[in-house]
Amino acid sequence: KELPADIEPENKRRQVYNACFSYVTPKETSDPKLIHVSDELCKEIGITKEDVQTDEFVSLFTGNSVLNGTSPYAMCYGGHQFGHWTGQLGDGRAINLFEINHNNKHWAFQLKGAGETPYSRTADGLAVLRSSIREHLCSEAMHHLGVPTTRSLSLSLTGDEVLRDIMYNGNAAYEKGAVVCRVAPSFIRFGNFEIFAARKDHETLRKLADYTIKHFYPEIDIDGKQKYLDFLTEVRNRTIDMIVHWQRVGFVHGVMNTDNMSILGLTIDYGPYGWLEGFDYEWTPNTTDAQNKRYRFGNQPYIGMWNLYKLANALYPLVEEVEPLQAVLNEYETIYLAKYDAMMKQKLGLDVATDYASLISELEKTLQLIETDYTIFFRNLASVLQTDTSLEALGKVMDSFYNKEELNSSVKEKWMRWFDEYIQTVQKQNINDTERAVRMNAVNPKYVLRNYMAQLAIDEADKGNYDIINELYQLLKQPYNEQPTYEKWFTKRPEWARHKVGCSM
Ligand code: AMP
Ligand code: MG
Ligand code: MG
Repeated sequence: KELPADIEPENKRRQVYNACFSYVTPKETSDPKLIHVSDELCKEIGITKEDVQTDEFVSLFTGNSVLNGTSPYAMCYGGHQFGHWTGQLGDGRAINLFEINHNNKHWAFQLKGAGETPYSRTADGLAVLRSSIREHLCSEAMHHLGVPTTRSLSLSLTGDEVLRDIMYNGNAAYEKGAVVCRVAPSFIRFGNFEIFAARKDHETLRKLADYTIKHFYPEIDIDGKQKYLDFLTEVRNRTIDMIVHWQRVGFVHGVMNTDNMSILGLTIDYGPYGWLEGFDYEWTPNTTDAQNKRYRFGNQPYIGMWNLYKLANALYPLVEEVEPLQAVLNEYETIYLAKYDAMMKQKLGLDVATDYASLISELEKTLQLIETDYTIFFRNLASVLQTDTSLEALGKVMDSFYNKEELNSSVKEKWMRWFDEYIQTVQKQNINDTERAVRMNAVNPKYVLRNYMAQLAIDEADKGNYDIINELYQLLKQPYNEQPTYEKWFTKRPEWARHKVGCSM
């Protein structure tokens, strides 16, 4: 809608009270240049190839122009970061441009890295090429993996330089600035609710909850307290689904602060995320979390619940009763475990209705005996036949071991024992080997955005060559399909990339 005449967009840093958002103007960039556009997302939202070629497209999605009749804004939210309440955070480097409806779907467009807002606090509101490539490629890859996520329409250079402290050499250095245009039905987070509860601004809290339910949970068609309880229940279910998907594909978010939890259960904020290589519950890609490992792979389901507690606290003023809120949260663990169990059975190609708890828990233990690549293991497991001996089966997953010398006789024996049980179980299934492999390959991706792959794309892009970005984008459009021309990407992490992880800022 039109900006009211008496309101000046003002990007000045400040505490913002009694408001869900502030109008802002994106920063003009000196030499905007498109690097990559998601053609798949364009199709979904009704943007044509010709639209992408226009100057208007570049200008709009780098923040150099604003569509007539629209008023960009930054949202106010708070959050619990690493377990502690941190007060007002807000869109410090995200600016919402406009929203559209296309084919009965609602989409909001948001620039990341388009300059400061009232919520920028001590930082500059900008993003660098490195982190923008990681966000752009990973959002789209996650979508094609079937994981609920915010999308990324475009990746552009701004032509401006951005000063950053690169963690690994300790010196501040200028890097290329970039802007990503993210797209999602909504970018509202748990933290949007928390800030108003913390400030005891119950009126705005209720408005925000009613708005969110009306537009994004229209199936909740009830008034009074039950409305907010149903809302929490739905958010709980979507959060569980999202985390089960993360565990399935080996995605570790890295910063599951409540301000990074989407109220729609979408994966949001691709910062120091990473992909599991060796199967390891303890692994986290976030170097700032290396001590406590709060956001490690194995802890993601628990953190999902912790964050829902914070959301429930924030919704308390609208319900004013602890027990029914508690009841919604109490079910989290049971629902999560059931969904996780079903997901693991699918990864193993087993009947979802039958109990295979011990086979699954034995597998999880065995996978940790020596460093075993999560993606390659499950992908190759599909080629195991009912007629295989356990030794033959082990041979088929051999490529997933990082150091075959670690496969001593005791480890080997444990694997053989597991394969014995697995093959016997598979023999009892009502499907043949071929059909089981098809089903397994539909849930066990062949290609994921391994950390070193993103790094290679970044190194080349820094030199002005975007070929790897293009190649990875194409590859990750079909993560479950065999793609012989891209076979080189179906491989374990090279040794040089062992301790390298992406930086978020
Ligand atoms: P994150 O850790 O990415 O979830 O960011 C936490 C908070 O810091 C959010 O409010 C961000 O908007 C803000 N933030 C992160 N990077 C920047 C930046 N370069 N400029 C301004 N705000 C930022
Ligand atoms: Mg964030
Ligand atoms: Mg971030």
